[in-house]
Amino acid sequence: MLVTDDIHALSKAVSGPVTLPDSPEFAAETRAFNAATVHRPDVVLGAENAQDVAAGVKWAAERRLPVAVQSTGHGADSVVEGGLLINTRRLQELQIDPVERTARVGAGVKWRSVLAASVPLGLVGLHGSSTDVGVVGYTLGGGLPVLGRAHGFAADHVRSMEVVTADGALRRIDAEAEAELFALMRGGKGNFGIVTELEFSLFPLGEFYGGGIIYPGADAADILAAFREWLPTLPDIASPSISLLRLPEMDFVPAPLRGQFVVHLRFAFLGTREDGDVLLAPMRAVSSPLMDTAGPMSYLDVDQIHMDPADPLPFTAGGALLKDLGEETAADLLKLTGDGSDCPLLLVEIRPLGGALARAGALPDAVSGRDAAFLLFLLGFKMPPVAEAVAGSIRGVLAEMAPHSTGYTLVNFHGEPGDETDRARAWSPAVYERMRAAKSSYDPGNLLRFGHTITGVPSAT
Ligand SMILES: Cc1cc2nc3c(=O)[nH]c(=O)nc-3n(C[C@H](O)[C@H](O)[C@H](O)COP(=O)(O)OP(=O)(O)OC[C@H]3O[C@@H](n4cnc5c(N)ncnc54)[C@H](O)[C@@H]3O)c2cc1C
Repeated sequence: MLVTDDIHALSKAVSGPVTLPDSPEFAAETRAFNAATVHRPDVVLGAENAQDVAAGVKWAAERRLPVAVQSTGHGADSVVEGGLLINTRRLQELQIDPVERTARVGAGVKWRSVLAASVPLGLVGLHGSSTDVGVVGYTLGGGLPVLGRAHGFAADHVRSMEVVTADGALRRIDAEAEAELFALMRGGKGNFGIVTELEFSLFPLGEFYGGGIIYPGADAADILAAFREWLPTLPDIASPSISLLRLPEMDFVPAPLRGQFVVHLRFAFLGTREDGDVLLAPMRAVSSPLMDTAGPMSYLDVDQIHMDPADPLPFTAGGALLKDLGEETAADLLKLTGDGSDCPLLLVEIRPLGGALARAGALPDAVSGRDAAFLLFLLGFKMPPVAEAVAGSIRGVLAEMAPHSTGYTLVNFHGEPGDETDRARAWSPAVYERMRAAKSSYDPGNLLRFGHTITGVPSAT
């Protein structure tokens, strides 16, 4: 149990705020974008710099207190109970090097800030569907980008990082310095330490074509069949995805679509209007779109492609990697989640992998699942009238779809972490075994044990 002297010792060692559960600031310091998750740590440290993170971890290690980390709370898939929560949102350093085509960011930086600085220089980073997500948490989980088929996973393009390991040491690591730790951090999530700074590659941006087409949900079977035929015709510089949406009567939904069941095709293409129109033509001819926003787009509007909610909401999610989207797979998915089913989920999303996502990066990393054809991702709001039904529905759909799955997940889309066997499904067996060995050496006391973490190899003694 922590006593006043412990809290004084932490406050003396750091420059950022130290907040206890009875403080009026506690709610703001622990709040997650996923409003269904209300963290209850013993104490929160609002780190202002890397030294604060190192001092906080050291302090916790001396007391054998577990340590959790949060920047935005987009990935708050489970509750932090007890221990020290390090809030990194104040680590806002951001530098772009347009010559080297790199960005260096602090652990609190969101993708939106990176794009605001890089797009005017003609460069983009490999963000996901919402640029409100934090760069570091996303990238450590592999980072499945909007432009993934063109460039691969975000983790493939990290050049170096600064990380505080469970012993409180601040290390600068890259392909040469502590190469195994560097490899396993990129895709291994927060298992081995708390990243304070990340350096990664940016990519040149020419013309950009993007947006979405929304169709009536009743035509979902035809649209999925057309999507399946259309995919192999696309070049890797085109990244589409498709989802079934049960849209709530909420402000983030365009007014004419509120309360409707629809299919949403998303399209991101590194090319011209003419080429984009030609590529999209087959999908424009399927069904009668209710809305079509695809066209030349300012890259700063890239969030309009997926239209993810921008404000915190309570949700729960789960995912699986699929072997295919063949007729049987699509039919089974529609039976469970399509028109006429009693599915309570907001989102049933299918993201094709392939292209650069299927190829290993230049440097080895922990990203697994490159052999899968599609990611299936399910998400429901924990709000009336479906609040009680969504978790069971996600479990049920994933169980029924298991014959079509590779058996693995992507850690960023895994949803609530279950037992060790369940958490291990985010990595190939070979990567998981390397991670267990690294966990034993970098975090032998299992200090970092919240969320999508694994345990080390039991010691021989
Ligand atoms: C609306 C929305 C859209 C999304 N779209 C995509 C997408 O397109 N592609 C994709 O790959 N993912 C996507 N995600 C998932 C997202 O990448 C993960 O939830 C990610 O963990 C969010 O990182 P964060 O730092 O913003 O969240 P946080 O909740 O703050 O952090 C989540 C976890 O990341 C780890 N972490 C965070 N910071 C650090 C750190 N400094 N050091 C070590 N570990 C750390 C910890 O394990 C922490 O528990 C999306 C999520 C949401 C809610």
